Amino acid sequence: MDYKIHISGLAQGKYEYEFPVKGDLFREYENQQVIDADVTARVTLEKGSGWMNAHLRGEGKVTVQCDRCLEDMDIPVDFSASLAIRPAKLGEETEDSDEFIIVDPSEAEVDLKQFIYDYICVNLPMVSSHPEGECNPEMLARIEALRAGQEKKKEETETYSPFSGLKDLLDKGKKK
Ligand SMILES: [Zn+2]
Repeated sequence: MDYKIHISGLAQGKYEYEFPVKGDLFREYENQQVIDADVTARVTLEKGSGWMNAHLRGEGKVTVQCDRCLEDMDIPVDFSASLAIRPAKLGEETEDSDEFIIVDPSEAEVDLKQFIYDYICVNLPMVSSHPEGECNPEMLARIEALRAGQEKKKEETETYSPFSGLKDLLDKGKKK
């Protein structure tokens, strides 16, 4: 999937573009948080005399793992952003920011992939879990059991002493 807009030779005016954003974008960036996505990114490009603006609107949902019960859950995505697109001046470093894209004047296209990806990620909550009481109770019970098991194991290894093996041997010897 590409997220490119052809900008060279555009007449002044307004242009609309639509890009579907799916889970593959997040896999491409090796994003561990997002399992799947179904977002539509709409771009309105406005070209005036000597300037160009892109208005970005993202709507849809991404699927992440609930931090509490580890089941999939959907997070709504809804953001908008404006970007100025302008050609690089001679000798200028072409460092993009979240407010503008600087394009090489020789480039015919502008790639919005990084921006779309960043805007979705920035708008995701740091902690994502189902509302209280809406987690999968079966999963919660399983996780709880697993955790209890691990703690028990930990306790067992902590109380292990090198003499307990020796003691076993001595006990065995006595029985013979
Ligand atoms: Zn949950």
